[in-house]
Amino acid sequence: MSGLELRNIVKNFGAVEVIRDVSLEVNDGEFVAFVGPSGCGKSTLLRLIAGLDKPTGGSIAIDGKDVTGIGAADRGLAMVFQSYALYPHMSVRENLAFGLENTKVAKAEIEARIADAARMLEIEPFLQRRPGQLSGGQRQRVAIGRAIVRRPDAFLLDEPLSNLDAELRVSMRAELAALHARLKATMIYVTHDQVEAMTLANRIVVLRGGRIEQVGTPLELYNKPANRFVAGFIGAPH
Ligand code: ADP
Ligand code: MG
Repeated sequence: MSGLELRNIVKNFGAVEVIRDVSLEVNDGEFVAFVGPSGCGKSTLLRLIAGLDKPTGGSIAIDGKDVTGIGAADRGLAMVFQSYALYPHMSVRENLAFGLENTKVAKAEIEARIADAARMLEIEPFLQRRPGQLSGGQRQRVAIGRAIVRRPDAFLLDEPLSNLDAELRVSMRAELAALHARLKATMIYVTHDQVEAMTLANRIVVLRGGRIEQVGTPLELYNKPANRFVAGFIGAPH
């Protein structure tokens, strides 16, 4: 198969089981949201997919190839964090170029990708600024731009909008939807905001205590929640 395949993933921190037997398939180009209360394992699961951490058990395959033992750099994925994680001492342009400079990507190609991402995200006027001179929304655009220039097969986004104010969150939501339509890349999107998940995702994965409670389209979850927990989190009131 192509896409991402998680098989019986377990992650323990010491004696604590944080991810408990999670199996999931994500198709190429899909927009999948992980939702669930704080501490349910969303970020941990995303880090395991990214290769930033190794599972205690189970396996991860990308496009049919087992990548369980393979590091983050070789998975063809790009992660966007809630905290932006920009380098404060570098300009926006340098932040965008940083991940590409010691790769096989040619200089001219790096410049072209930066120009393209800057245009797409409307951050052209800020390329020479430092992150400290930008608003939260502008910083988050740069963080997304840094992922875009890497041309990843999949984007892994961990609550990318939760540091923004409500109005900006809504407009950035629309931008993310447009970006997904344009790039046609897989997006795995962690959020504790069910409205965000309902409006953006093709499928939603509801997590609780390190387990999957239900996977379905927003409509399936809304109309046919598997249990009271899912209903309380996302379903129709009843
Ligand atoms: P979420 O992103 O859904 O809020 P996390 O994946 O961050 O949840 O955390 C899930 C659980 O794992 C929490 O109980 C958290 O305290 C614990 N946890 C996460 N990372 C570590 C770590 N590096 N060491 C120990 N416990 C951790
Ligand atoms: Mg988290």
